[in-house]
Formats: sequence, structure tokens, C-alpha cells
Amino acid sequence: MDAITFTVDAQGIGLAVMDLPGKPMNLLNDDMVAPMLALVDRLEKDASLKGLVIASGKKDFMAGADVDKLWRITTAQEAFDQSMMFKRVLRRIELCGKPVVAAIHGMCLGGGLELAMACHARLVLNDGKAQLGLPEVKLGLLPGGGGTQRLPRLVGMQQALQMMGEGEPVRADKALAIGLATALVASREELLAQAQAWCVANPKPRQPWDQPKFRYPGGDGRTPAAVQLLAMGPSMASAKTYGNYPAVTHIMSSVFEGSLMDIDNAMEVESRYFAACAISPASRNMIGTLWYQLASIKKGQSRPQGVPASKVQKLGILGAGMMGAGIAYVSAVASIEVVLLDTSQEAAERGKAYSQTLLDKLVKKGRRSAEQRDAVLARITPTTDYAALAGCDLVIEAVFEDRAIKAEVTKKTEAVIPATTVFASNTSTLPITGLATASARPANFIGLHFFSPVDKMPLVEIIVGEHTSPETLARGFDYVLQIGKTPIVVNDSRGFYTSRVFATYVMEGLAMLTEGVHPRSIEQAGLQAGMPMPPLALQDEVSLSLALHVSDQTKKDLAAEGKTYASHPGEAVLRQLCEIGRVGKKAGKGFYDWTESGRTLWPGLKDLYPLAAEQPAQAELIDRLMFAQANEAARCYEEGVLRSVADANIGSIFGWGFAPFQGGALQFINAMGPAKFVARARELAAKHGPRFAPAGVVVKLAEEGKRFTD
Ligand code: NAD
Repeated sequence: MDAITFTVDAQGIGLAVMDLPGKPMNLLNDDMVAPMLALVDRLEKDASLKGLVIASGKKDFMAGADVDKLWRITTAQEAFDQSMMFKRVLRRIELCGKPVVAAIHGMCLGGGLELAMACHARLVLNDGKAQLGLPEVKLGLLPGGGGTQRLPRLVGMQQALQMMGEGEPVRADKALAIGLATALVASREELLAQAQAWCVANPKPRQPWDQPKFRYPGGDGRTPAAVQLLAMGPSMASAKTYGNYPAVTHIMSSVFEGSLMDIDNAMEVESRYFAACAISPASRNMIGTLWYQLASIKKGQSRPQGVPASKVQKLGILGAGMMGAGIAYVSAVASIEVVLLDTSQEAAERGKAYSQTLLDKLVKKGRRSAEQRDAVLARITPTTDYAALAGCDLVIEAVFEDRAIKAEVTKKTEAVIPATTVFASNTSTLPITGLATASARPANFIGLHFFSPVDKMPLVEIIVGEHTSPETLARGFDYVLQIGKTPIVVNDSRGFYTSRVFATYVMEGLAMLTEGVHPRSIEQAGLQAGMPMPPLALQDEVSLSLALHVSDQTKKDLAAEGKTYASHPGEAVLRQLCEIGRVGKKAGKGFYDWTESGRTLWPGLKDLYPLAAEQPAQAELIDRLMFAQANEAARCYEEGVLRSVADANIGSIFGWGFAPFQGGALQFINAMGPAKFVARARELAAKHGPRFAPAGVVVKLAEEGKRFTD
């Protein structure tokens, strides 16, 4: 079967339906481009063909470029050539002298939108599913199929920069309002009929930019407003990204420079910037992790094979606090019946009210109808009655972080649920195997570690206890996918993976304070490293007293197990601030003074930690923050806490925001090369302590000239 089926109607208007065989989505891969070229040939040569409608036979118009092909690019020249080749085809479409219309439904992204913008009109099916956008920046790329040139010429530079800089698609009504869509239509039949009618009504269209009097909507790069935007835009973007995402500024440069010349020359400018992005380390890291590794996780690489796929119909949640309420919301949205249990009916109702608040906001924004909201809410039953849990396929415990309370609710629940029910704990610190001792069915016991706020955070860390069965793991995994989140699977260990490695970032910042490093330099280093929040502010957010409690508990537990505890220099800081009541944001005071209007560093810090006469270089601080995390991730891998490199990388980015442009905590080592990592880690260890001594697994990789692979 061909990727494009082609028919011609009685008026000579062709209909090309893209339907890539064997793929759920249309992509601009070789299978698609070859028939597209043949089509363009025919459009140019066949006089009986009066126009063309390009449509899709799939549920979406087109997902975009073929990432596999981009991934194989090794040189800037190859990237430039590939980009130019695609654009020549698009240019021929718009210069063929006949009308070509894109009939769009569903997603029309990346190369798909670039193709649509090379058409003379874009009709969009307005059924709530249409999304038009250029998301390339999310993989560190720039739209290299004319997107940085046609989009600003259609919608204006400012709007185009926003769309390409953020990579977020727009919906049908917005696409029409900004001039990206030519018209909206109500039904699939009308979509094709109107597209064909457009061709008949516009026999000789010319793109706006091919008309002599063309002006950019809102002005080109010569207008004072654009000059001002150009003067400030790149520096503002760099201030936000610390130069870690070159695609952002390359997109701006391509848009501005391209606006000063004709479209053909502008296309070449774009291809040069595209080449720079395509071979940049940031893009390689992001494609490797956020495209390939994420896909392999979602395909179930960490899910035990041979266990039939499962679906949760009825979910029980114990504890309707912050986490329980969030888990109830995401599950009810995924059409699961939820029983939300707490110690008082009032507390359970409060947990349900959280969903009401979130849904009301969506209704207000027009993203949900009132009926949809009510249907979701109707699925959540708040209760204090354990009997209501009967028939649950899965129960998630999210009560206080207290072993005795957790044991009690486990027992009470097991008295009413079927023997096949999976029982999960959302504990953030307590080892799963220990909690499972309260269970009569430890094989059914698992950890499902959600992140706060649950509705926004994409990750769930699944923790496999000593007795957790493969079936339980598979069912937990299926549930996480069912609610639209990304599962990583780790073995049971103190702090699991995410909390353990995340702590090294924050604690390193605290350790720097004790050495007299200026707190502003510490915070700046975190942001420059690409972390979403600086270490001291982050510690305030998660609370100093909680962190101190966890480290004290760990010390006690290890002593009971007869193991030694390696104390971290940052702990003294936690204790010192907690002693004077500066326990974090909740108290309004920690490293910062927190007010309604924001945060300011607490001036008293300099008295507690006098500044050293000589301040270290920022690069040294950045290295410490990043090496501490990567090295701890490597230790987790070595100890078998982590089961795969993909889980390590995705878990780090989705779990605690490890600098995405680095591609994740282990990719940080891979990209640098283990030998270089080991050498630098040893330098850091000599200066700052044994916590930096490189993990044995990295030393071994360095010796063997290998990298982390799954
Ligand atoms: P929370 O204090 O907001 O909520 C706990 C809820 O459990 C309260 O509503 C309380 O009334 C209820 N509860 C207490 N004892 C109960 C019992 N015997 N039976 C039924 N309900 C009972 O706490 P939270 O922040 O939602 O945390 C819950 C769990 O999730 C903890 O184990 C915590 O470690 C873990 N966790 C928290 C976060 C976070 O960021 N807050 C993140 C991941 C995991």
C-alpha cells in the first residue's frame, strides 16, 4: 500500500490522502516523501489536474518529521542538505500555479504544519481535537521545513516566536484568530467539500510572501517594534535558559534575519540554524532521552512480560490529604471509579473538593463542559467506611508517613478487599519491603510513589519490594499508564531513586553555605546548571524539618541494622536553621523570608555562614551540583536500585527536573564520557570529600571505554 492514495474528481481537483502504512501517525519519512514528490511532479505537469487537496486517512493530519532520520544525522552539512531538500519540495507546491489546500483534522505538528503552511489554504476541522504547532524546540531543534519563515509571515513575528519558542500547539479557534487557519469547518465531509470548493474558487493562488507588495503582519525585522524585540528577545531568552538551549535563540535569529530577505534566501538561513541545532549536544541529549528512552518506557521495557494487560475499574485511596486527593483526581479523570477514604467524612469530602476546584477552573477556561466535570466528580465517593473498598482492583495508601498508621490501614483494608487486589503505598521514604510486613499478601504489595502536585507531575516511581510479584508490578505499571503518567521501576531501597538523588542536589547547596560560598552564587549555580529551582529555595519548599527528620530517621535505621552512616556536611545547616525555627516556606522563613509577594534571601544567613574571602568559580559550583547527582544516580544503578538507563534518565528529568538539556542523570555521564567524568569526580573528591569519589560502575565503564546502555 502506498503512503498516499490519490483520486481526482470531475472538476479536476485531486485528493491526496496520506496514510502511512504500518504507523499510527503520518510522518514525513522516506515512504511519505517519495509519493509526495511524485504528486508534486504531476501537479506541475498534468494540465488536467486543476488543484489539490491534501488530507489524512488517520486520526491526525500529521505528527511531524521522522525523528529516526534526524537522529542519523552526523554532520552539519547533512542536516543542512536534508532540510533544504524537504523545503524545495514545499516550495514547488506553493509555486505550482494551482491551488493546494491542507484539509486538517487532529494534530498537525512540526513538519505536518510546515507542509500545511506551504499550501495556499488551511481548512481545519473544529471538533475540539485540532492542534497546530511547531514543537521542535522541545527536542532542542528548530523547525527546519520553512516553519521559522512561513509562520511569522502568516501570523506575525511576535506570535510566531511565542509559538516556536514554547513549542505549544494552538487549537482551532486560536489558529483562525491569528491567521494560521484559513477557515474552520464543522464536519469531516464538509472539510473535504470546502477544500475542494476553495480550489475551484481560487484557481491561481499565490502565497502572500510571493506577492510584490507583501508586508509582514505587524511588521518585519526593520520596524522599531521588531528591532526592540530583536534587541531584547535573545538576551531575555538567555537570561531564562542560561544559554543551555541554543535552539531558542537560533529560532529568534532565523526569524529576524529571515525577515530581512526574500523567502528563498530566508530558507537557507533557516537551514543553517537548523543544522546548528541538529548537531548540538542539547538536541542529541534530548532526542535520546525524551524521545527514544521515553518511548521505550511507555512501550513497557520495564514491565514484566507475559502478564496480560490489565485495567483498573475501581480504585480505593486511603487518606484524602494532599496526595490522596490528587491521585483521586487523576484517576477519576481517567474514568476510574474512586473510593476516597479518610478518618472523618469531612476530611474525605475535602479531598473530593480538590477535584471540584481543579475541574471548575477547567470549565471556566472552556477546556471542559459542566457535564464532563460532573461526570468526573460523580466517580469519586468520599467515605470513612472500609466496606466501600470491596471490589477494588487497586488500593493506594496515602495516609500519614507513619509506619504504625500505615500498618493499621493495610490490615483493615485487606479484611475487605479480594485476595487479588493490588495494594500500593505512596510512601516517600519508608522501604516497601518493611511496610509489606503488615500485609498478609506481600506479593500483592508495591510502592507507587507519586509526586506533588499529582495533577501536574508526569512521573510515578514504582517500587518493587522483596516479595512483590511480577504480576503486581505489571498491574501497577498498567495503572500508571492508564492515568496518563510515565512509570519508572526501581528496586526497594532507602529514598528509592528519585528522593535519594534529588537530596544530593539540595544538600550540596547547603554544604557550600558552610564553606562560606555566597548564597546568591549557590542559587545562581543551580539555575545556570539548568535545574528548575535553585537548591536553597528548593529546600525551603520541601521543608528543612522534613529533610532533617528523614536524615535522623535514616541514621537511626542504619544503626539498628548495624550499618555505618556517612553524614553529609549539609546536615549541620539543616539542624542549625531548624533550631532557630527557620524550617522553610511553610513557616514563612528558611533560607529565604517568604512573603505573599515572593522570597528574599534571609539577611541573617551571612552571620551564620560568614562569606569566605575567596569565592569559588561558578563553574566549580555547577560541577559540584551536577556531579553529586549524576554520581549518586550511577551508584543507584550499580546497587541495582535502578533497573535501566532509561528509567534513570527519565526519572531524573520528570521526577525532580534534572536539567533536561543534559538528557538525564546518567546521560550526563554518557555525554561527557565516563573517563572524563571519573577524572573530574576524583578532582572534586580530593577537594570536597569522598561523596564525589566516582561510582565503581563509572570507573569500570571508563576503563572499558564503554557507556551506560540498556
Ligand atoms: P497529608 O497529611 O496531606 O494527608 C494525609 C491524610 O491521611 C490526611 O487527610 C489524614 O486525615 C489521612 N489519614 C491519617 N490517618 C489515617 C487513617 N488511619 N485512615 C485514613 N486516613 C488517614 O499527607 P500527604 O502529603 O498527602 O502524604 C501522604 C503520603 O504520601 C505520605 O506517606 C507521604 O510521605 C507521601 N508522599 C507525600 C508527598 C508530598 O509531596 N506531600 C509526595 C510523595 C509521597
